Amino acid sequence: MSKPILVLNCGSSSIKYQMIDAESEELLAKGLVQRIATGTTGTIDHEVLSNNQGEYHVDQELPDHETALAKVFDLFREHGPNLDETVAVAHRTVHGGDKFAAPTLIDNEVVKTLRELSPLAPLHNPPGIAGIQAARKLLPNIPHVGIFDTAFFVNLPAEAYTYAMDVGTASQTKIRKYGFHGTSHQYVSQQAAKLLGRDDLKQIVCHLGNGASMSAVDSGHPIETSMGLTPLPGLVMGTRTGDIDPGIIGYLHRELGWTAAEIDTELNKRSGMLGLTGHTDMRDVQSAIDAGDKRARLGMDVYVHRLVFYIGGYAALLGGLDAITFTAGVGENSSEVRAEVCERLGVFGVQLDEQANSIRSKEPRVISTPESKVKVLVIPTNEELAMARQSVELLASS
Ligand code: ADP
Repeated sequence: MSKPILVLNCGSSSIKYQMIDAESEELLAKGLVQRIATGTTGTIDHEVLSNNQGEYHVDQELPDHETALAKVFDLFREHGPNLDETVAVAHRTVHGGDKFAAPTLIDNEVVKTLRELSPLAPLHNPPGIAGIQAARKLLPNIPHVGIFDTAFFVNLPAEAYTYAMDVGTASQTKIRKYGFHGTSHQYVSQQAAKLLGRDDLKQIVCHLGNGASMSAVDSGHPIETSMGLTPLPGLVMGTRTGDIDPGIIGYLHRELGWTAAEIDTELNKRSGMLGLTGHTDMRDVQSAIDAGDKRARLGMDVYVHRLVFYIGGYAALLGGLDAITFTAGVGENSSEVRAEVCERLGVFGVQLDEQANSIRSKEPRVISTPESKVKVLVIPTNEELAMARQSVELLASS
């Protein structure tokens, strides 16, 4: 029997969605809504991938998430797949604080708790809540499931999630390391264990997309991750700094008179590879390097240095290392980044198979030599499929 799950990812001005049959794991439809509540004409691109395949485009005023979702649902009703067969809606929710350690059935109480958590993720949680409320109103008769980006990391060891600051201040303000991209780290680490046929792996997952984060996972349990209270720290990202000296924040305020909001924007939107090289996209950075651009070369050196630094630290925390997995846009596609990182990991007995590394594929694969002491893997992430699976598991158990 088919079990279509609608997976929603609501941002402040966009909604990404997929309809996945959780039974056959077939992608039935996907779409993207853009420019919600921006005062300009919004757009919807709806693609049907199951029966009666087709692509549909709509331009329309989209003043809020509810109008946008109502229009998306009209497209489902007009072109398919059949919305009435949907068994649940899975909502990607960025910040679950320390309240949500697992997928959760959404009711009014959960929405209230999410509202209380909004100060922790002011850019992400409010649009997520708007999407949840709109979808619950438009599809009131099926369960809605919250899947939290932070959930996989709720049970990190205390010494990993605690910041070295006054414990009273930290507890009053809920400051701790939460970690993000949890659905991806969980899915990819499980796939790695499956690919290598071992449940007791000591592994490192490098999720390198526009946002980037790393996790250390021991026998399925995360013991460290690179993002923190917010998605800003850790690795160098497309536009985010990753780790910097926290003293820089006060210094920028004193020297340039920037407000908290201006500093937030600088560190989140104008830094990382964009700030270093002038390019956000790693393909553009690589082309600039190939053309002899020294600034791009330095940017890549900083990017790789940070990755190697974290891998070394995580190997020590794990007390050994069986596998390193690359995933997300850069991790899955950039053989150059993978090669530059692995070249510097000889100390751990990492040997990259150059031929295997250069192959482009959508399949999970090993790219280290048979002699390599640590297996190096590329595993395409699929957060939407993971969310659909988790929703079905929750519904089966509740
Ligand atoms: P997001 O964090 O937005 O989900 P993705 O995981 O889709 O991001 O990754 C997007 C990034 O992947 C792009 O900004 C680009 O830097 C990188 N990328 C995509 N394709 C390639 C490629 N062929 N080579 C190198 N980098 C790539």
